Amino acid sequence: MKYSHLLIDLDRTLWDFERNSEQTMRELFDKYELQKLCHADFQTFFDAYHIINAGLWKAYNNGTLAKEVLYVSRFSMTLDHFGMTDTFALGKQLGDYYVFESPKKTALVPGTMELLRYLKAKGYTLSIVSNGFKEVQFEKMRTSGIDVFFDNVFLSDDIGWQKPHRPFFDHVLQRLHAQPSECVIIGDDINVDIAGARNAGIDQIFCNFSGAKADFEPTHTVSELKSIMEIL
Ligand SMILES: [Mg+2]
Repeated sequence: MKYSHLLIDLDRTLWDFERNSEQTMRELFDKYELQKLCHADFQTFFDAYHIINAGLWKAYNNGTLAKEVLYVSRFSMTLDHFGMTDTFALGKQLGDYYVFESPKKTALVPGTMELLRYLKAKGYTLSIVSNGFKEVQFEKMRTSGIDVFFDNVFLSDDIGWQKPHRPFFDHVLQRLHAQPSECVIIGDDINVDIAGARNAGIDQIFCNFSGAKADFEPTHTVSELKSIMEIL
């Protein structure tokens, strides 16, 4: 076996973030009567939220935005976008609802359970490496039933550094008492997971589910999770 430690990203690699997020947003849209308040249908609202949220996450990953601000701003800024004013209080309610409800959703990327069972049976040490928030990542893993497969959970929230930054990976290697050559990362984000690991000397399996372009060649690239079983 070439590797002994598998570092696996959670959101969008195993936990189907898009499906779970959309389901939560639909609930929230109805419960808070956002159609009436924003004069927009769900898809229009969700599309705007998506763009605003992605921009804020970029700032969060760069360390220039606090998560408490992100929680509220992604909603208050979306409400602003639809012409509402004084949006902080409602933005906060929506942010709280989202953070409370979304981790209860259980949709997984196709092939997740089969892959985790396979990897565990092969004797790998499995560790989650995630930039997601501490308050929600454990609950997502528990409710979707994948927590039992993991030996370690490394969260940027605890480490104080986020992927793709080198100190995040150095911390993980130190905690695992592992050399970079003993590890491989499995992740869906070319800039955060794959470039970050590469920079730390760790091999990569890029889960390119959406056919994204990479400006360098990851160690391995797959278009679906089950192909990882041919590599490991
Ligand atoms: Mg991800």
